[in-house]
Amino acid sequence: MISFYPGPSRIYDEIPKYVADAARLGIMSMNHRSEEFIALSKKTITLLKQKLNIPKDYTIFFTSSATECWEIIAQSWVTATSYHIYNGAFGEKWYTYTQRLRDGAQALPFNHEKKIKPEAFVFNSKQSVICITQNETSNGTQVSNAIIKKIKTNNPESLVAVDATSSMAGIVLDFKAADIWFASVQKCFGLPAGMALMVCSPNAIQKANLLNQNLHYNSVVFMNAMMEKWQTPYTPNVLNIYLLMRVLEKSKPIREVHKRIVNQYKKWITLLDKHKYLQHLIKNKAVHSYTVLPVETIFGEVNLIKIKAKQKGYLLGEGYGTLKANTFRIANFPAIKATEIKLLQNFLNAIR
Ligand SMILES: *Cc1c(COP(=O)(O)O)cnc(C)c1O
Repeated sequence: MISFYPGPSRIYDEIPKYVADAARLGIMSMNHRSEEFIALSKKTITLLKQKLNIPKDYTIFFTSSATECWEIIAQSWVTATSYHIYNGAFGEKWYTYTQRLRDGAQALPFNHEKKIKPEAFVFNSKQSVICITQNETSNGTQVSNAIIKKIKTNNPESLVAVDATSSMAGIVLDFKAADIWFASVQKCFGLPAGMALMVCSPNAIQKANLLNQNLHYNSVVFMNAMMEKWQTPYTPNVLNIYLLMRVLEKSKPIREVHKRIVNQYKKWITLLDKHKYLQHLIKNKAVHSYTVLPVETIFGEVNLIKIKAKQKGYLLGEGYGTLKANTFRIANFPAIKATEIKLLQNFLNAIR
């Protein structure tokens, strides 16, 4: 079965071999305070910075999930207001999770066909955290690096936090343009679920230390003190850190990966533009995600397509939430091979 699900998604072919190596080398019972772990952690973080083009002075943390990152941000950085700029289910969930923990969470939803105007998001509250979902996995839209940068420039005193769960390691992200970025590894990283990464600017770390909100095992103040020794407050997913390290060793620089992903995205658009019964859910191409394609069926036979695809060995992503009835989603993640995309495209082209 070839998975086109946008998370958990197709893992790299080499993963089973790396898991076998991990077993042989004792990685699975490695102590997380040992010299060996420190070396592994340091190497993985160094590779992440190299391959994803993350500034050297940024700090990278290992966490459990993107969902946990939403809570870490609320607990460690939100003191007064958090502004949630979103157009879909994941951005809305981030808002809801923050609201449960903090009274000052404000929802600023926008239409999924609309490109946001940075001028509309200039805030008075200087102590705020501005939360942006860069790639909205539920509806296949994205917010560009340029817009994120503008919002930060317009609000220099605020922290800008970016959910890049379904785009980090798939496209070029301008890490300098914001303070906090996070993603879990079961999407563009092509790894099994159970870990996430949080990437923080020196400014974000400084703010966290200043606020000194240190009530939780994954408070940034505590995480940062541990990461100065390449460690985590808790026992991390050592196996997944090892797998990430092995995958990164072999991965191309993000600029090259980005090019391939955008090319593949264009091929999908060519197919959908020509198709008689299938179309992209979002009509405004200027807001399309490169890594997640939501496909709408014009005649409503979405279940039949999914069943037939499964019989052929292609797992399509369900439409998200209320979009389930008339859409399916296709992941355009780096671990999916060109030959596999071709197979699915032939299958979809044959639908009549
Ligand atoms: C998948 C996803 C999440 C949730 O990730 P978990 O690892 O399950 O916590 C959050 N945000 C976005 C944009 C996602 O695509």
